[in-house]
Parts: sequence; C-alpha cells; structure tokens
Amino acid sequence: MSLIGTAAQPLRVAIIGAGPAGFYAAERLFKETELVIEVDMFDRLPTPFGLVRNGVAPDHQKIKSVTAAFDRIANNPRFRFFGNVELGRDLSLDDFKANYHQILFSTGAQTDRPLGIPGDELIGSHPATEFVAWYNGHPDFRDCQFDLTQERVAVIGVGNVAIDVARILCRTQEELMKTDIADYALEALSKSQVKEVYILGRRGPAQAAFTAPEAKELGEMADCDTLVPPAEAELDPLSLASMASADRADVRKVEIIQELSHRQPTGKAKRLTLRFLVSPTELIGDEAGHVKQMKLVHNELYATDAGSLRSRSTDRTETLDVGLVFRSIGYRGVPLPGVPFNDSWGVIPNDAGRVIDMQTKEPVCGLYTAGWIKRGPTGVIGTNKPDAAETVESMLEDARNGDLLAPVHATSESAAAFVLERQPELVTYADWKQLDAMELNKGKEQGRPRVKFTRIEDMLAALRE
Ligand code: NAP
Repeated sequence: MSLIGTAAQPLRVAIIGAGPAGFYAAERLFKETELVIEVDMFDRLPTPFGLVRNGVAPDHQKIKSVTAAFDRIANNPRFRFFGNVELGRDLSLDDFKANYHQILFSTGAQTDRPLGIPGDELIGSHPATEFVAWYNGHPDFRDCQFDLTQERVAVIGVGNVAIDVARILCRTQEELMKTDIADYALEALSKSQVKEVYILGRRGPAQAAFTAPEAKELGEMADCDTLVPPAEAELDPLSLASMASADRADVRKVEIIQELSHRQPTGKAKRLTLRFLVSPTELIGDEAGHVKQMKLVHNELYATDAGSLRSRSTDRTETLDVGLVFRSIGYRGVPLPGVPFNDSWGVIPNDAGRVIDMQTKEPVCGLYTAGWIKRGPTGVIGTNKPDAAETVESMLEDARNGDLLAPVHATSESAAAFVLERQPELVTYADWKQLDAMELNKGKEQGRPRVKFTRIEDMLAALRE
C-alpha cells in the first residue's frame, strides 16, 4: 500500500492541456474519496478551455456554456491553473517528473491532416483548422491572412468542422455580431466578397460525418440559400441498403440533406452548395501562384470486405472555379518533447490511458493521456468525459499500487515556486477570471457575449494593470 494520497502526502498530479479532457480528468480525480489528490493544470496559453474557446464555432455559444462546469471543477481548493506555461519551452518532461507523482497529457490535436494533391500549397489554399483558430481569436493564428475578396470558396470534407467553416463564411454581419468571434475576424468578414461556398464530400449523404442538427442549421441562415444537387442527394443501392441498420440520427441527417435538395434558390445574397461523391484531384493556380480552379473527379461507392462503404473514382471529372480553398479532413496530434508518439496515428500510444513505450510496449511509469491526443480527433466535447474517466481509473489503480514517480519537490508550495521561477508570467485561475470579466465587460459594451483578448502580450499587460 502506498503512503502517497494522504492529507500529509497528497497524490500530486500535473495535467498538461486545459481543454475538456483535462478538466474532465480533474473532475474524476476529485471524485476519488480514498485518496487525497492535488491537481495542477498547465496550458501553454494564458487562457483555459482549449477547443471550447478556440475551436467551437462562435455562433454556438450554448456549447461554450460547458465552461461553467469547468469553473466549478477549478473552484476545488486542490486545483491550480498554471497558464502561459509550456512543456518544452518553460519546463521539460524531467522538470514535471521532479514535481509530480503522475503526469497526464491532454494536449488535443493541434494541427491538420494534409490532403496531398498537386497545388495544395498554392496561395489561397488553407487548412480549415487555421481558419477556425483565426476566427476564434487564438493568439498563434490571429495574424493569418485569408483572401476574402474571393467570391467562390470550396471546403473539402463533410465533417462538423467543414460545416462550421462554411457557416461562418455564409453568416451575415448581424448574425456574427451576436457571437464572440474575434473582433478582427468580424471586421474582415464584414468586408467579405464571398458569395458561393461549396462543401465537398467524397462519399454520399449517408456517410457524411457531420451530425443532423448541424445539417439542419445550414438550411436556416439569414441570407444564404443552402442547396444540394438532387442527383447527389440520392442514395445509391449500397447506401440505401445500409440505411436499414442506421440509427435514428443518421436517418434524420439523410432526410435533412434530401429536403435541402428540393429547395430552389430564393435570391439570398450567398449560396452554399453541399456536394457528394466528388474528390478534389488538383488545385490549379494563376500566374501569381494563387489558386483559381479545382479539378474534381466523381466517385462511386463500393463495399470493402469488412463491409464499410468506400469511395473510388470514376472517369467523370469537372473543374470548379474557386479562389479560396479550406481542407477540412481532420485534425492531427503533434508530438510532445520526450513523450512517446505514434506518428502514423498522430496520438500518444496508450493502453486505457497509460502511456506505452513504443519499443518495449510496456507502460511508462507515471505518464498518462486523455482526449484527442489519446484517441484521435473524434467525438464531441462530452465524449471526453468517459475517455478521461478511463484514464483516471488507470491512474488510481497505479497510485494504490504505488506505481508512481518519485518527485524531488514533493510539496505543492515547492512545485509552485519551481514553476514560477521558470515562468514568472504564469497566469493563475484567479488571473484568468479577471481576464474573463474584462472580456465579458467589453462584450456588454458592444452588445456581444464577449470580446476576446487575442494577443498574449495584451492579456499579460491587462493583468499587470
Ligand atoms: P471528421 O468528423 O472526422 O470529418 C472529416 C471529413 O473529412 C470526413 O467527411 C471525411 O470523409 C473527410 N475526408 C478525410 N480524408 C479525406 C480526403 N482525403 N478527401 C476528402 N475528404 C476527406 O473531422 P472534423 O470535421 O475535423 O471534426 C472532428 C471532430 O470534432 C468530429 O468528431 C466532429 O463531430 C467534432 N466536432 C463537433 C462539432 C459539433 O458538435 N457541432 C463541431 C466541430 C467538430 P470520409 O468520411 O469519407 O473519411
């Protein structure tokens, strides 16, 4: 039996990454009644909440209200937040090991999957993840440039992120004013010339990755007609057969797509067209290296031996005039210094959240993972709750067995002093609450839910004042 986890010697856990998975892990750790546990949560940004702040679309404020639950978790006296502290920049993995019994990585998936077609690198071709981070005011992406003087835009992929990107491009100024979109993005989008947006799915309506409520919302925008070419909304025989065993939500999604395919343009200022069974094969640039066209091939579906439906190209092709392209084919995790990483999958190799050494295939003592960096970029915010709970079960089992790191700085005071020495401008949860209040106040003045700080220097300067 381990002596760690008592009031005299609490189990000291570092959670790296303050998104939903990190908070749900903290919540589950605090529910443990037999062990006394202290959690220090780190984030490289001064602000917590990960993709809830920087990924969830600004016109989905209701989803963002999950932060009230994260606030309650942060109110636990055994919780501390160390924002503006980065693994690799301010502290090494060895530093964390010198301060904590257990370290949990919940850093999400910070980059995008490449598409790998000729012309991908042309000016005007961007990962959707960058556009999302830009309109949400992520400090690393606030200075990105997107050419919104273009009238025609393609979004590749039919997941919820593609839907978010298309919706933000098609919303009116009045609709965006009601959101906490970054103020520079609001300004840029108010001058946008975008009139025609295409969302391109390589498979059919039954295989679209977006969810039914998101599809429905596409048809409810103030000044944008949303259409689907009738021929592409029809289900092929394989998809039709698959609907027999589809769940209610998928049936509803297909119904919504087919309803959109019966619509005619009503003369709204923008038009959004959802397309299916097409794949981009090449982006073509003008003399200045700016994307001007996209070559598409039409696809058909076939069943694999395992029974899933995949796309393959036919000999039908077409060319689409577009001056701006967003590839939205999934996020991807990035390796953390010193932490095992499965490069093919873009995740930290793990067994029920225990980090696994790639060579020995054995668990690495004291290291754990949760969220997208553990399982890949799938599911909604709530999916991280059971995911984090699984990891915490492993952590508690190891703690009870005494399979822990042996930190030299064994108290919360010494750890805090250590971190402060490395990063004197660390941001605490109380600091964040001040920033939060300032953002909300500024929002109130402008009749918006919040006006975000988008520069780290501005956040730190505001706190110093
Ligand atoms: P996703 O749901 O995995 O969708 C990726 C899309 O890219 C799929 O349509 C996929 O098609 C397509 N794709 C992949 N490779 C492609 C290729 N080479 N060519 C053409 N298309 C390709 O990923 P996501 O949209 O990035 O979303 C990530 C997660 O966040 C998802 O779980 C999503 O539901 C969630 N999310 C939820 C919300 C919300 O609840 N409102 C909002 C945003 C994100 P195939 O299916 O054919 O592979």
